[in-house]
Amino acid sequence: MTIYSVQIIARTLKDLRALERFELDLKYRAAQQLATDRLMVPGILTEEQIQQVERAGYKVEIISNLSQVAVERAQEVSLVNRFAEARGLSAFEERAVLGYMTTDEVESALINLQSLHPDLVTLIKLPHHTWENRISHAVRVSAEKNESRVGVLFTGSMHAREWGGSDICISFLVNFINAYRANKGLTFGGKSFTAAQVHTILENTDLFVFPDVNPDGKNYSQTYDPTSDEQGFWWRKNRNPNTSVDPSNPGVDLNRNFDFLWDSGIGTSSNPSSFIYKGESPFSEPETRNIRHLFDTYQNIGYFVDIHSYSELILYSWGDDENQTTYPKQNFMNPIYDGKRGILDDTLYGEFISPQDQEKFVNLAHRMNKALGDVRGKHYTVQQAVGLYPTSATSDDYAFSRHIVNKLNNKVYGYTIEFGQEFVPPFSEMSNIIKDVCAAMGELCWAISSDVTVREKTGEKGVMIGA
Ligand SMILES: [Zn+2]
Repeated sequence: MTIYSVQIIARTLKDLRALERFELDLKYRAAQQLATDRLMVPGILTEEQIQQVERAGYKVEIISNLSQVAVERAQEVSLVNRFAEARGLSAFEERAVLGYMTTDEVESALINLQSLHPDLVTLIKLPHHTWENRISHAVRVSAEKNESRVGVLFTGSMHAREWGGSDICISFLVNFINAYRANKGLTFGGKSFTAAQVHTILENTDLFVFPDVNPDGKNYSQTYDPTSDEQGFWWRKNRNPNTSVDPSNPGVDLNRNFDFLWDSGIGTSSNPSSFIYKGESPFSEPETRNIRHLFDTYQNIGYFVDIHSYSELILYSWGDDENQTTYPKQNFMNPIYDGKRGILDDTLYGEFISPQDQEKFVNLAHRMNKALGDVRGKHYTVQQAVGLYPTSATSDDYAFSRHIVNKLNNKVYGYTIEFGQEFVPPFSEMSNIIKDVCAAMGELCWAISSDVTVREKTGEKGVMIGA
């Protein structure tokens, strides 16, 4: 079976959103309005699905034959564990450029970072084993044991086929730790951090990095033989075997499994075969529970960036409906609005965000984008996560909602970065993207660690905005 990367064109927003009924593998967050009567959403479709959509009156433009792409990219996964020994990390730059990291390499890199730098790096063994019984680790990097420091959490590769998130996270860690150790500055293309900035970042922030959220899924995608049936290569969900009557399509979409409007069904599916299956309950999956564990355990985390591909976007909350700053009672906790959320272009409901929070979200996103652009001139789009398709139960909104649901929780500004122009870019391009995104991550940390106006509002406990 051949599968294609396509763009589906609709004439109205209503038509575009009606595509949800086909349960296709669509890249909802990359949907764009190209002209008044021309809206586009990319996706991965079989020939049969293309015909089905065309019969329903949509135009389908084929971008590429993904069967060929899968064969090429599968050859770019490292065959040996380059970081099995600690000394592999001292040759990181030369080794990392050779190809995508496997789940084993990511684990080795984390373990060896701690063994090389026990005074800087704490290995965090996450409590929930994956369905295939993998043990996941995150690390905490801090150069000072000062408990009042603000934490920032970076996560990668939540979706199986979005391999590069892990590579970005490991590069970020190794680059900043090596620069700190050598008392040197750090350069990503045209963006630099001085030695003093690197020191300030490691001394004033707690860096939490969980590079490989969904190792079962990524391992499945990376080890699947793309010449037999390439669907496995483009796997999105985790590998929960208990979800489906169709054994060929198990798993839960982890980025629809968080406890934020999970019941609403907005942009999620209850059908276990769906690409956006939300699971049996919020946090039914060990991988999402591992992320919750980090927020619950390290209450100083005030910022969160979940790294996905693709679309060249920096997204901020909310994702369920358009933001409004006027009516605090129109909020996700208020049951009066059940059933009214998730409808775009209406005046019945908008998700409340304070003007100060919205401004801070946007300003920091532009700062990240500026740093990213300085590397080699790329410009991502900063936008509210809702885009043209509302979603619920995603990681970023869960992070930002925690302080509203429970006023004892720290406020967490949650972002999603969607890097690149395809799920798995050729590794030569991925190497450039790693620099782009590391620069953005570094800039966020620099803003947090150096700018009092950024930092002072964190550590703020939640305020009940009332129902
Ligand atoms: Zn994703």
